[in-house]
Amino acid sequence: MNLESYIRSTPDFPKPGIIFRDFTPMLANGPAFQEMIDRLKARHQDTPIDVVVGIEARGFILAAALAYALGAGTVLVRKEGKLPHATHRQEYLLEYGSNVLEIQQDAFQDGQRILIIDDVLATGGTVAATVEIIRAHFDVEIREIDFLMELDDLKGREKLADLPVHSVLHY
Ligand code: IMP
Repeated sequence: MNLESYIRSTPDFPKPGIIFRDFTPMLANGPAFQEMIDRLKARHQDTPIDVVVGIEARGFILAAALAYALGAGTVLVRKEGKLPHATHRQEYLLEYGSNVLEIQQDAFQDGQRILIIDDVLATGGTVAATVEIIRAHFDVEIREIDFLMELDDLKGREKLADLPVHSVLHY
């Protein structure tokens, strides 16, 4: 199946000059959604994963479906102020200004093997902050970081130099 045909590219969204890559047409199509999750699942079938970490908000959809397929748990990394329990926080820089990510302090048990997932790898700032918050506070093994789409020109994977990164589609 040509998964790329289920990605809609919208120019000048959310700002002029940006091409927004949108996977909601893939989500809306049962066989395409299933194929996407099956491809990711196939990568991890022989290496046990305890928890799939999803990054707000589209990453949650991928994380939950993949975790279910692998028989793993799901942990949410959220924007500031959304998680009810005690959290760790990590600030990171955006093009203009900054943002804060949070994770609950009891998110993992020591030694767990985890996978981080999001829909798009762009500059890598969001996922690098996710890696930082996890490494600063937890004794877990990050087995891989997966994306549905990677914007190659932005070289986001250079921010994740020491970690295995896999993207299903490249732009
Ligand atoms: P980064 O921090 O620059 O790598 O941006 C990645 C974050 O922004 C991810 O959480 C994505 O969901 C979101 N993002 C960046 N570009 C796009 C896009 O073209 N489509 C959908 N989400 C995007």
